[in-house]
Amino acid sequence: MESPQKTVIVGAGPVGSLAALYAARRGHQVEVYELRPDLRNPSTIPLNFTKSINLAVSERGINAMRLAGYPTLLQTVMDGTIPMRGRMIHGKGPMGSLYEHPQDYDARGRVIYAIDRSDLNSRLLDILDSMPNVKLFFNHKLTGADFRTHRAWFEARDRDASPNDRPREIEITFDLMIGADGAHSAMRYHLMKFSRMDYQQEYIDTLWCEFQLSARETGPKDGPWAKFRISPNHLHIWPGKDFMFIAIPSEDGSFTCTLFLPSNQFAELESNPSSLPAFFDQHFPGVTDLISNESLISSFKENPHLPLISLKCRPYHHGSSGVIVGDAAHAMVPFYGQGMNAGMEDVRILFSILDKHAEVCENDPNGGLGSSTMSPLQRSQALAEYSAVREPDAHAINALALQNYVEMRSSVLSKRYRLRKFLEEFMSVNFPNFGWHTKYSRVSFSNEGYAAVVRKSDHQGTVLMRSFVGLLASPFALTVIILTYRHRRSILSSILGLSGF
Ligand code: FAD
Repeated sequence: MESPQKTVIVGAGPVGSLAALYAARRGHQVEVYELRPDLRNPSTIPLNFTKSINLAVSERGINAMRLAGYPTLLQTVMDGTIPMRGRMIHGKGPMGSLYEHPQDYDARGRVIYAIDRSDLNSRLLDILDSMPNVKLFFNHKLTGADFRTHRAWFEARDRDASPNDRPREIEITFDLMIGADGAHSAMRYHLMKFSRMDYQQEYIDTLWCEFQLSARETGPKDGPWAKFRISPNHLHIWPGKDFMFIAIPSEDGSFTCTLFLPSNQFAELESNPSSLPAFFDQHFPGVTDLISNESLISSFKENPHLPLISLKCRPYHHGSSGVIVGDAAHAMVPFYGQGMNAGMEDVRILFSILDKHAEVCENDPNGGLGSSTMSPLQRSQALAEYSAVREPDAHAINALALQNYVEMRSSVLSKRYRLRKFLEEFMSVNFPNFGWHTKYSRVSFSNEGYAAVVRKSDHQGTVLMRSFVGLLASPFALTVIILTYRHRRSILSSILGLSGF
């Protein structure tokens, strides 16, 4: 009997862990190498945890987990999530009073979910730990790879080693190495020496920093929602023209908040952190009623001020032996809440293409999941197809995420933008059979390729604007639109609305 394919995964973040699960379910001999200590052990979590603690997971990420071939995965993961049905926009009215303005994400009530990133990661690692054909190696840093001879090198540190101890170098072999080692991917760097890879990266002029909005103390008679100081079922946004503050709920009643701000304004606040509460009062009204001045200042001083990178490359593979997925292949700015979702979708699509090229054995012991046996030729054809299929979609969501950054800062205020958004929601709500959807719902509630989303949305925009101009000539149609405009809160909110996040 042929020995199973050896699949090595570099990086045990959410995308690498899901890739390991997909490979394991296909009977591969799987080894996962992760730079950092096991995040499930609280004593070994690095103090400067540098990833947003709470993320929004939506259909693409959920679908990739649904199709992982591990029946209880989705339920295990979704148990720890909080549905968010829309944004809650916070601001100050002309008379100085604070307002909260809800905007549903979807006219049909679909939601996205707040998820604790490390909780999701831990649940995936627990499943991998229970699989006999998976080995996890923490404290292992990829330092070199040869994709022709299928060998790679790692620096390994013992769990209890002191930082002064020299790491051991180990050499391993693989049939396929999947790089899921994040935006600053070592795997991508080594792959570039073998593939003629085009590569482009851009840092946007915005930094981010995390804050905590703590849960409210509750008594035994209080209901389960009393611990949340603001609505638990919304992603809260305090918009600014050049910056914003957001809050995402956690199960324990707290919120993980993120400040996005241009670097020069960060520098100003860094030189005088005590001015932070006044800055918040001016730009993010109401926040200082929820987070104490001391907590704002200490989070700002202690938490890292991190950059946002957007990167594109192509192809994603070399021959039959290496491929990159997730942030390693297409890190994007976070303004569409799609980075992890797109990375998980990479895994689903990569394995569906590998399965298509594999000789699936009859009576497949892996429950028909495929790719149990595969020649190097078949694998190289599959990886080439993956690069070709995924590139336009990855580039499209990258661009959408960047555009959304601009949109959230300024375009939302333009009449043309708001008119279009109103019309799209109008069509989606009133004429559902026409298949018109907002760009947001195509991105967040479907599995349609991102490039197709952009194409359809551009076409829809053109048709809508032309039709609207035509309709303006018809007094009857205009009356219908105005009446609907007046009576539908969801449509009204879309006019005032932001997209993304
Ligand atoms: P990572 O999460 O970066 O994991 C890579 C892993 O590889 C790490 O564990 C790292 O230690 C390991 N590694 C690195 N180098 C090596 C090496 N040399 N050897 C071995 N291992 C290595 N996405 C969403 O979908 N929804 C959101 O709401 C959202 N919000 C975000 C908000 C912010 C502020 C930011 C910054 C990002 C957000 N994202 C969001 C994006 C999301 O965090 C990333 O897309 C996602 O974490 C990518 O997962 P990954 O597994 O590809 O990479």
